[in-house]
Amino acid sequence: MAEDPHATSKDPRHAPDPRRRVPRTDVVLADARLVAAAETVGRAAVKAAVVTALQRVRDGEIAPAEAVDAALGVLPRGPRPVLNATGVVLHTNLGRAALSPAARDAVVAAAGHTDVELDLETGRRARRGRAALAALAAAVPAAGDVHVVNNGAAALVLAATALAAGREIIVSRGEMVEIGDGFRLPDLLESTGARLREVGTTNRTTLRDYERAIGPQTGFILKVHPSNFVIRGFTSDTPIAALAALDPPVVADIGSGLLRPDPLLPGEPDAATTLTAGADLVIASGDKLLGGPQAGLLLGEAPLIERLRRHPLARALRVDKLTLAALHATLTGPPTPTWQALRTDPSSLHARTETVRARLEAEGVPVTLTESPAVVGGGGAPEVTLPSWSLSLPEPYAAALRTGATPVVGRVERGHLLLDLRCIPADADDQLITAVLAAAKALDGTAPGAGK
Ligand SMILES: *Cc1c(COP(=O)(O)O)cnc(C)c1O
Repeated sequence: MAEDPHATSKDPRHAPDPRRRVPRTDVVLADARLVAAAETVGRAAVKAAVVTALQRVRDGEIAPAEAVDAALGVLPRGPRPVLNATGVVLHTNLGRAALSPAARDAVVAAAGHTDVELDLETGRRARRGRAALAALAAAVPAAGDVHVVNNGAAALVLAATALAAGREIIVSRGEMVEIGDGFRLPDLLESTGARLREVGTTNRTTLRDYERAIGPQTGFILKVHPSNFVIRGFTSDTPIAALAALDPPVVADIGSGLLRPDPLLPGEPDAATTLTAGADLVIASGDKLLGGPQAGLLLGEAPLIERLRRHPLARALRVDKLTLAALHATLTGPPTPTWQALRTDPSSLHARTETVRARLEAEGVPVTLTESPAVVGGGGAPEVTLPSWSLSLPEPYAAALRTGATPVVGRVERGHLLLDLRCIPADADDQLITAVLAAAKALDGTAPGAGK
């Protein structure tokens, strides 16, 4: 309505109220932050956001000086980069593994047109993602062949559909896992038309239990790694090597995606050892301990892999070119951020955390340094804790940091926000400090005393 900035201020009823001085649309649109935003979301979206913000000024909801922030706040926004200060290396809500710089570069390079399914030498169609598949096969020589689908769950669905639809999957009652957000492996498997033949008990399943369940209806024996819980006490479990001596194929869902044994995580199964022990097919995720993109890895005997690859469902689970590029770079590149975060030396982490703490304290932030164990996360090794250190801040910082310009996610424990720097790239410490100082300022404004 009032495009003329002076129109309302001349109105004697509103003249004394600064909230009624509505800035001109074109003046607001010229703000550097909004000009920059237009580069990503387009000028039309920015203009609509400004119109909305100015209406709020007109309605007296916000001050004229808040118009730009209000407009920025309603711009369409995709997933945002977050600093993971949770001390959980593989946090599903934060996208699990952070890709290595090499994998990020590979994603960017593959984003345009790419030779994902074309042999540039011959000009003919080639096996999709052959470079990534070759790298995976090379990393696990015990596998006769490999295949990649969208995620671990998709790999399970493909195996269950191709090998056991209308038939039975024999699985221990101790391995009926819920993987998170209400999704349960038994439901997933039965959705394919396979029937589950549960054997043993929650804590004990013997070779004899499996043997007795085998019959003409058996599709395969499934072994699921309990990747997010532990059963302790009076327990007994039948190893893959014993199951491999039985007739039906053995499919092992190892979850974590370790390709070879890792001395840091002795309880975590790996693809090479599991295949050598006699599994016919190993299923794992790409974005857990492997530290790559979301993907489902299938490794096993060549004829079995070929059967899966040729199944019609394989086309529906086909993996994206960006994933293939990132997977290739992860497999052939330097140690991943996941690998590095797991191996961070506690004393250097302590020194780094103390440096950040001192800089924040010098700015008046009420921060202390505290010992706080880190964990691998939903991706595996539920029993492993990594000695670690955190910055400790008053709890109100949690929300302020989450909603800041660079969102920082920590964890709240006993009334304090803990920020573990283990999973934050070392070159992002300045960014973290800027974010904490901005949060302190925001808290000072809203709740006196909360920030300092
Ligand atoms: C994580 C996990 C899955 C699911 O894999 P996604 O890649 O998340 O689909 C299946 N089984 C086990 C044992 C797991 O740990």
